[in-house]
Order: sequence, then C-alpha cells, then structure tokens
Amino acid sequence: MKSNQDIIIVGGGIIGLACAHYLLKQNKSVRIIEQDKIGSGASHGNCGLLHFSGIIPLCAPGVVSHEFFRVIRGTSPLYIKPQFDIKLFHWLYKFAGYCNAKHMNAAAKAKNQILSYSLELFETLFSSIDLNCDFEKKGLLTLFKNQSYFDKYAKTNAFLEKFNMGGRPLTPSQIQDIEPAIKDDIAGAWLNPHDWHLRPEKLIEAWKKKLIQKGLIIEEKTKLIDFNIQKKKIAGVNTIKGRFKADAYIIASGAWAAKIKEQLNLKCPVQPGKGYSITMEQPDIAPTIPCLLYERNMVATPWTSGFRLGGTMEFSGYNDTLNKKRLAKLIFGAKEYLNTTMDQPIVEEWTGLRPMTFDDLPIIGPVSHMDNLILATGHGMLGITMATGTGKAVCDLLTNGKPSIDLTAFSPDRF
Ligand SMILES: Cc1cc2nc3c(=O)[nH]c(=O)nc-3n(C[C@H](O)[C@H](O)[C@H](O)COP(=O)(O)OP(=O)(O)OC[C@H]3O[C@@H](n4cnc5c(N)ncnc54)[C@H](O)[C@@H]3O)c2cc1C
Repeated sequence: MKSNQDIIIVGGGIIGLACAHYLLKQNKSVRIIEQDKIGSGASHGNCGLLHFSGIIPLCAPGVVSHEFFRVIRGTSPLYIKPQFDIKLFHWLYKFAGYCNAKHMNAAAKAKNQILSYSLELFETLFSSIDLNCDFEKKGLLTLFKNQSYFDKYAKTNAFLEKFNMGGRPLTPSQIQDIEPAIKDDIAGAWLNPHDWHLRPEKLIEAWKKKLIQKGLIIEEKTKLIDFNIQKKKIAGVNTIKGRFKADAYIIASGAWAAKIKEQLNLKCPVQPGKGYSITMEQPDIAPTIPCLLYERNMVATPWTSGFRLGGTMEFSGYNDTLNKKRLAKLIFGAKEYLNTTMDQPIVEEWTGLRPMTFDDLPIIGPVSHMDNLILATGHGMLGITMATGTGKAVCDLLTNGKPSIDLTAFSPDRF
C-alpha cells in the first residue's frame, strides 16, 4: 500500500485536472493516476475552443441522412472503419435513435446549463490564477461556402437565441473587413461572440504546475489495472506501479473509461471518436478569430504562438495511427476557405480520441451501486469547454453532496 489519500483521480486529462483544482481548493488531498503523461490524451492537440455556444447535440434531427450523403460524396469528416464490432454497432444504433427534436431540446437545455456554468468558472479561474495559454475572447466565425447552408443556419441561430447563445450573420464584404485572410468567394459567415479560445496543451502545462504547488500528487506512467472492491466500496486501485488507496475515486479517463467498466459492472457506453490536428508556426496571413469551416466540419484556430487545423471523426477503435490522408484533408479543406498558404513549418501532427456518448451528453456523477465512485467522462467534442463545470460539480458532490447544477441528464445511471 503506497499511502492514504483522500481522493484518487484516474486520468490526467483536462477533466482530471479540473476535478483536482476544485478539490484542492477544499483542502482535499488529491492524487492523479495517469497511464502516460499528464495531458497526453485528447486534451493535448485539440482545437482549443471554449465553445460555450455549442449546445446543440451531435445527434440532431437529419444528421444521419446528411452524413450518409456526405459520406457518399466523399465530403464527410466522418469515417467508420468496416469491422465487426458489436459495441460500436450498438452505439451507432442508439445514436441514430437520439437524432430527434425531443432529444435535441432536452440535450441543449442540459448542455447549456453546464456550458454556462463552465463559462462563469473559467472567468473566475483566469482572473484568479495566471495561466499562460494564449487565452482570448474573440468569438467563433462559422464560414459557409454553400449559400443554402448559410441561409439555413439562420434557423440554427434562432434555436441558439432561445438560450441567449446566438450570433450575427456577415456578408462576404463584412467578412473581408474583419478577416482579410478569408477567401472572398465565401457565401457568408455567422459570428458568435460567446465563444473563446486558448491553446490546450499550454493550459494543461500551466495548470498542472499551479496544482502541483497546491499539493497535487501526480503518478505518471502508472496505468490502472483493476480495483479492489469490498462490498459496495472501492478499497484501492492496483496499478502497474503498485496499489494506491483513497476514500473516494473519480474515473476521468476519457475515451478509455469504457475499458474499465467490466470489473465495476458499469454501463459506460463511451466510444473513441478519433480526431486529427496539424499545428504550424504562425503564418503571415491567417484569421485572427477561430474559424469553423462548416462544410468541412473542421476548425482553424489562430494563437499568438501558432496555428492549428483540427477535425474529422473516425470510429476505428483504440489506436493512434496517423492517417496521412486525413491530415492532408485538413490542409486541403482549410485552403478552400482561407488565403493562408499552409507552407509554414509544421510543429506537430496529432491524433486523439474523444470520449463519445451516443446521446452526446457527458457522464458525470456517482454510480448508484458503488458508495465511493464518481464518473467524469464522455465529454465528446467539448471536454475543454465543459472542464470547469465538470470539475466543480464533481468536487461539490464529494464535499457537500450539492452541485450547483442539475446533473440528472448526465447521470451514469441513465443507461
Ligand atoms: C481533433 C479534436 C479537436 C477537439 N477540439 C475541441 C475544442 O475545440 N474544444 C473542446 O472543448 N473540446 C475539443 N475536443 C474534445 C476534447 O479534446 C475532449 O473532450 C477532452 O480532451 C476530454 O478530456 P478528458 O480529460 O476526459 O480525456 P483525455 O484528455 O483523453 O484524458 C484521459 C486520460 O486518462 C488516461 N488514462 C486512460 N486510461 C487510463 C488507465 N487505465 N490508467 C491511468 N490513466 C488512464 C489517459 O492516458 C489520458 O491522459 C477535441 C478533440 C479532438 C480529438
């Protein structure tokens, strides 16, 4: 037995760090157990949007047919590897079942709650600690090549308006005034002022250092093997570096959470949704506001320290193979919208696994058949954005049992 700790967090991504942050503020002693290095999972090379307006779930009405036709045309960012995977089939079947208006409304309400809460908490975080991560509040520009998609987006924006999360349309000449780096044959854009951005790997590095100063213990290269279970309690965790013990345990292992469910008899239907990014040195010509390239479903994020293109959604299991074709598609897609030459030195080509749930809602909360276990995973496309809200809610659950937001929609028991 290594030592007694109050809380053990399995997984050192953005969610694990956020949970640690709020728990340390409550004077808990916290140990993170990480199989690789802190921030080496999906939290590293993502697009870095704090996408607070991203309240509409992926499973929305019409998504299945829309993506089907895009797959046929070869323009879809989605790729499903042909393979016999019963869990993936089940996941996709359930996802299709959630593509309806009723779920969209309910999920948007739930997502809006945690996203708005996270916004408030990020505001407090950045005003209280100096975290050097290229953080900016510049909004998000959604760019359209296709006139009819641009026109139809007015309906989407009207939906966002109901949650006070809407933006405003821009004509091609208005876009040119704001961002000359965007091509002049764009049909139009919507500028959403509610979104912010940062460089995620810089946030992780800076936050980790601050948390270590506050007493966070980090065990890297320490893969969790299994749990010691005594009746309804976890009594300890066995790792490749030995056994650790705590009073309570948080599973924040992102896409891998699904792998540790069997022993705990959990339903945790998380599928790894593989994405790619290319990071370059800062180009001479680049937008200053992050751009969502609508038809390509990809993002271009500019920072003072660099420039990143990210996107694609590949269901091909747990692997980190860098598919050069998908990386090339990011460059090709960006060139359709931006005047950026894309020939500046490449800093990193990356792939990461998003923890995807079929209802596109995170899994946050206690597990009813275990007394001292909390899940914090399934954040899909928005784990960076929802990190603070998740961390604070988990901390409240453990310290006073009363989170400030309603976690019913995110309950692990909903499956
Ligand atoms: C291309 C791309 C772009 C994205 N863009 C955005 C964006 O702009 N904004 C946004 O909000 N989100 C974005 N996301 C999503 C976001 O990256 C994820 O939702 C988020 O990083 C999930 O964080 P996490 O801490 O749950 O998982 P991770 O960061 O994956 O962390 C989980 C950690 O658990 C560890 N672990 C797993 N199993 C074990 C084990 N058995 N023992 C010990 N440790 C273990 C892993 O090594 C890993 O470090 C994007 C994702 C991708 C792929």
